[in-house]
Amino acid sequence: VCSPGAPEVHRICVCVRKRPLSQRETNMKDLDIITIPSDNVVMVHESKQKVDLTRYLENQTFCFDHAFDDTASNELVYQFTARPLVESIFRKGMATCFAYGQTGSGKTHTMGGTFSGSLQDCSKGIYALVAQDVFLLLKNATYERLDLRVYGTFFEIYGGKVYDLLNWKKKLQVLEDGHRQMQVVGLQEREVCCVEELLTLVEQGNSCRTSGQTSVNSHSSRSHAVFQIILRSKGKLHGKFSLVDLAGNERGADTAKANRKRQLEGAEINKSLLALKECIRALGQNKSHTPFRASKLTQVLRDSFIGHNSSTCMIATISPGMTSCENTLNTLRYANRVKEL
Ligand code: ADP
Ligand code: MG
Repeated sequence: VCSPGAPEVHRICVCVRKRPLSQRETNMKDLDIITIPSDNVVMVHESKQKVDLTRYLENQTFCFDHAFDDTASNELVYQFTARPLVESIFRKGMATCFAYGQTGSGKTHTMGGTFSGSLQDCSKGIYALVAQDVFLLLKNATYERLDLRVYGTFFEIYGGKVYDLLNWKKKLQVLEDGHRQMQVVGLQEREVCCVEELLTLVEQGNSCRTSGQTSVNSHSSRSHAVFQIILRSKGKLHGKFSLVDLAGNERGADTAKANRKRQLEGAEINKSLLALKECIRALGQNKSHTPFRASKLTQVLRDSFIGHNSSTCMIATISPGMTSCENTLNTLRYANRVKEL
């Protein structure tokens, strides 16, 4: 699927990344039920019970463009996912990279990493790795003459509303302009001149994202974070890379006891993740109708998806433990649907 097809075909690459068992999971004797027998196969060994109560393993196999086991570094994951898309934004393309998976499966670890002022002592996630390569390519003779400038935006989508993380979480409207383009009206777009400046934006946004929150995790798991690296030539949009840390996809079991607010949040997240899947599938099949309007997430990503030279990669992150089996299978099925064309 990753191989370049006809230029008008939207390219989609779907990968899976398994994280190691955490200390907490190990302490509670959770078992690792995921194996990656080759670099594109994921196996789930689900423990099941027969009527006579004897237990057996049910093995399910899934194939993707790439599968990364728990020893894979962010750099390795990057090489096979976002890296091949970076150059496309210099060639007037649009690129999108999503991290999809249950809360705690490694989406933010993969995308965000950590940065606090210096590139030396940070753990680089895909944001930082893309940022580095963007500034590297900018100095490339082929692109230098285009006189490109780099800008960053960072916003989150929560409960179907857009909030600017670079402007004190200001609530923004999404409107369609005269050219059928969706605009996030008033979104702060900051010009940056080096990797560190770009990553500082992410840090600022992240601190704004969590301020006033009692628990960092509870909020970030229920909102989609979108970080965009934009190239402009004489002010005109040249290319854009959208990096998306999606809301946790776990829903269901706890909705019955959850309060009304949680239920509404869950329904909104379900709706947006479903719309995302439908849009990506429609793009892959080159269908004329793509259901962008179905959610705020797909509305704001519309222009990134429909460019004539656009590519998408999805990194589905999974937890290895038996206690996460149900969510892991849901993630793998979703990723499978996105891939299946
Ligand atoms: P999510 O964003 O999907 O909720 P996180 O990225 O916050 O999940 O990951 C949950 C925890 O697991 C964090 O403490 C993170 O450092 C750790 N973790 C996630 N993926 C990996 C990995 N591949 N290797 C080591 N630790 C990981
Ligand atoms: Mg997270």
